[in-house]
Amino acid sequence: MSTYRPLHDRGVMARWREYLPVTEATPFISLNEGSTPLIHSPKLSERVGRGCEVYIKYEGLNPTGSFKDRGMTMALSKAVEDGAKAVICASTGNTSAAAAAYAARASIACIVLLPAGKIAFGKLAQAFMYGAKVVAIDGNFDDALHLVREIGETEPIAIVNSINPYRLQGQKTASFEIIDVLGDAPDVHILPVGNAGNISAYWMGYQEFHQLGKATKQPRMCGFQAAGSAPIFYNKVVEKPETVATAIRIGNPASWKLASAAITDSGGSIDIVTDAEILSAQQWLAAHEGIFVEPASAASIAGLFKSLENPIPTCPIPRIAEGSKIVCTVTGHGLKDPDIAREQCGSVIPAKAEKGEILRLIAG
Ligand SMILES: *Cc1c(COP(=O)(O)O)cnc(C)c1O
Repeated sequence: MSTYRPLHDRGVMARWREYLPVTEATPFISLNEGSTPLIHSPKLSERVGRGCEVYIKYEGLNPTGSFKDRGMTMALSKAVEDGAKAVICASTGNTSAAAAAYAARASIACIVLLPAGKIAFGKLAQAFMYGAKVVAIDGNFDDALHLVREIGETEPIAIVNSINPYRLQGQKTASFEIIDVLGDAPDVHILPVGNAGNISAYWMGYQEFHQLGKATKQPRMCGFQAAGSAPIFYNKVVEKPETVATAIRIGNPASWKLASAAITDSGGSIDIVTDAEILSAQQWLAAHEGIFVEPASAASIAGLFKSLENPIPTCPIPRIAEGSKIVCTVTGHGLKDPDIAREQCGSVIPAKAEKGEILRLIAG
């Protein structure tokens, strides 16, 4: 028999246990998520100028490649504590990847409802490989979430979408980590908004640490939606949301009210970025900082660029004050969506396997 005993010294439930609804009876269903790098970006700092510093919270480095793992470790641990034998979620892709992985770890079944044909290939591959039952519905994410709620009412299956309160509890730990690294909260926090759980969770985390005296201030929360999928910005449900950023292709966000409160109470803003702006920011970040993120994640970088537009910024980000510390969350890894990357790639250079020819080609 193996003598290895997990120490549970990593993962968000171990690191931030005292701030989470965890008891002695809660099992640790963890893949060592969280503690992702907060990377200083000299080039973004220079572009913003006026003594501002920009940091990137690289959530693509979580075990399944997105921030969803922070919430899923909590949701699955509580589901197992409550005796669940199966979990279900609607997903634009990353929630299903995370749910499937943590369900595998917990040895319980996972059912995922996806909008047919609208899932980035990397995410679909994950759900299959982690052994989930994958159901593709003839409808969008909002339809899938509606069905999940209906099924949860009658069946003994735990819902692990962000309407599950443990998800946001787990996700708020990203704010704790940022305060831990910077020594205080930043002045501005920029992130993409889809179902609007993450912006709400970050705000919860910032408020909590401020109240505990671990930060002297709270950042302005600045959310960005894709222009074709921007219900909060337009203050209206979008029946047929469209965007290349499939992770934020949501027309009726579940955490709409919480997100609006976060934006208002923090003195922040909500705005939109176009698909072209998203793809250009995605390429810029990969080529200039070596950080490859999926399209939805690049909405925060596109949003930062938009806030710098001249002469009159159309962007409602409150004018970034001199010397501000700005954090942009990039939510998911670029390898999640290889097709989008391929469409943007240049062509390869064909060559004979011969040194002279290769030297000629790279010189020209
Ligand atoms: C889920 C997700 C989002 C959107 O987060 P919400 O909490 O739904 O607003 C953004 N980017 C990526 C990569 C995601 O997986």
